[in-house]
Amino acid sequence: MPSIKSLDDLFLHTLKDVYYAERQILKALPKMARAAQDPALRDSFQLHREQTQQQIERLQQVFEELGKRAQGVTCEAINGLIEECDELLEMAPEPSPVRDAGLVASAQAVEHYEIARYGTLIAWARGSGQKQIVRLLEETLAEEKKTDALLSEMAERSTNQEARGAA
Ligand code: FE
Ligand code: FE
Ligand code: FE
Repeated sequence: MPSIKSLDDLFLHTLKDVYYAERQILKALPKMARAAQDPALRDSFQLHREQTQQQIERLQQVFEELGKRAQGVTCEAINGLIEECDELLEMAPEPSPVRDAGLVASAQAVEHYEIARYGTLIAWARGSGQKQIVRLLEETLAEEKKTDALLSEMAERSTNQEARGAA
């Protein structure tokens, strides 16, 4: 395993990590959309899949800016988060509002991982004056944050539905 000696090495490694993560997310989102019962949740997964496709392209532009080949490194964190989502779907095999709430929870964990990664990459790129890279990554970070906020709203709504159902 090649060593990380400079902040440039670390930046590139982290970029590869999030590149891998985005590609796994791209594969996971259609499955999550199919599993969702609430049409609004399904739509939001489908929309975010399209955004993820663009985010992957933005990352490819960042690699290009750096004069590096776009390449991923295995991110065990995202693999684990996606595995948790798969487990949830096994534990709640039937479409239901509760399963939807679990899907929202899984999706939020994914968004938070991305927000953490992009936040750090942006700070490093800003610190080293790489304006174009900052711009590209900020565009994606804004989408991730918006998605997270939307999921928070859905999480709140699902508890309201549950409360009404129980009443
Ligand atoms: Fe993303
Ligand atoms: Fe990672
Ligand atoms: Fe995302």
